[in-house]
Amino acid sequence: MPFVSHPKLPGKVYVPEIRIGTPKKHSCPDCFSCQHCGDDRCQVCRSDGEKRNTPSQRKPAKENTVSTSEIYDMIVIGGGPGGFSAGIYAMRAAMKTVLLEKGAPGGQMTLSGEIENYPGVEHIGGPELAMKFHEHAQAYGLEMRFQEVCEIEPGREHHSVRLEDGTVINAHAVILATGGSPRKLNIPGEDAYYGRGVSYCAVCDGFFFRNKTVVVIGGGDSAAEESLYLAKLAKQVYLVHRRDSLRASKILQQRIQAECKIDVIWNSIPLEIMADETGGVTSVAVQNVKTGERQNVATDGVFIFIGFKPNNALVPAGVRMNADGYVVTDDKCETSIPGLYVIGDLRQKYARQIVIAASDGCTAALAAAHYVENRKAVDAENACQLTS
Ligand code: NAP
Repeated sequence: MPFVSHPKLPGKVYVPEIRIGTPKKHSCPDCFSCQHCGDDRCQVCRSDGEKRNTPSQRKPAKENTVSTSEIYDMIVIGGGPGGFSAGIYAMRAAMKTVLLEKGAPGGQMTLSGEIENYPGVEHIGGPELAMKFHEHAQAYGLEMRFQEVCEIEPGREHHSVRLEDGTVINAHAVILATGGSPRKLNIPGEDAYYGRGVSYCAVCDGFFFRNKTVVVIGGGDSAAEESLYLAKLAKQVYLVHRRDSLRASKILQQRIQAECKIDVIWNSIPLEIMADETGGVTSVAVQNVKTGERQNVATDGVFIFIGFKPNNALVPAGVRMNADGYVVTDDKCETSIPGLYVIGDLRQKYARQIVIAASDGCTAALAAAHYVENRKAVDAENACQLTS
């Protein structure tokens, strides 16, 4: 299994053999099949080059950028469950698609120790499920590029996506699936001892705390699941929660209660993470919000799971977002910009689950395929009028 250290991610993660697929060349026997391939046998590409908003005619997003001459049907940004699902459905709809991912495939899913609520899969590790998504997409021949996206520039005829190396890729539809990142406590010691006892990933770092004591902060599904995971390794887990009941699902609450290695410190908030002179974490100062009482909980590590924030840096200006920074879409996952779709944890919705992200990916890819066909029909009609 290709579980190796990854330069951008902590711990051992699943990193596939990185292959940049070569898009298939196609000839264009008539207007309707033309995807502006640039092939000199193509009637459309030869005849209407001046009228189209071709990459070479576009003003580059920044100086020294290069544009690819190809126009994809779809670009999927993000290789989590939503992105892979979108990619698989796009390939099944015969859409010329590329998936762009800046790190390892899987997204947040790779940080989950155990997943037990993905239908049809009773029990699986996060990295293993990520690998299955990736292999499934590969089986459909989905082109994947492991590069960071810097900007999405919406356009009338197609949208442009600029990569970190300056390359610009164009597509009729863009599906944004960049998910979220762990939320921080912003207390003293959190940044200073990150990687030296402070962690946001039990799967990545739990191993270092075998037979040691750890503190977990939070009360949601993540905190509960990761506490249970850590209880298998550590000798003692303290779960610090700011209220008197957990937000986590009932089944997880029951398991927490039944796990003798986990003690919950109720109604308490962390104030500061302390370390010794070597920088190794030694304790967390917590305060009871009801009594005001303060105590130092001795620990070797602190795992923080207090939710996450949406990764919305790539969302173009003008796209509607809610007050928390989640993108508002319609029931097709389409944003206020036609042909731009947002799926998974970045989209405003009731619940955030792997199965929901995957379902979003399906919805968006099917809707985008319909959008692309219409778009191409209009383009082809315009091209035919120009040639006649
Ligand atoms: P979450 O559900 O938003 O829970 C965050 C927890 O952290 C809450 O208990 C919250 O307390 C607490 N918290 C927030 N800010 C805090 C602060 N500054 N100080 C102390 N505590 C703080 O986040 P999550 O657990 O990461 O889950 C995110 C989403 O993913 C949820 O929709 C969840 O259901 C889903 N998820 C699902 C699974 C699964 O089904 N297998 C696994 C993981 C996550 P309050 O309760 O008082 O607000």
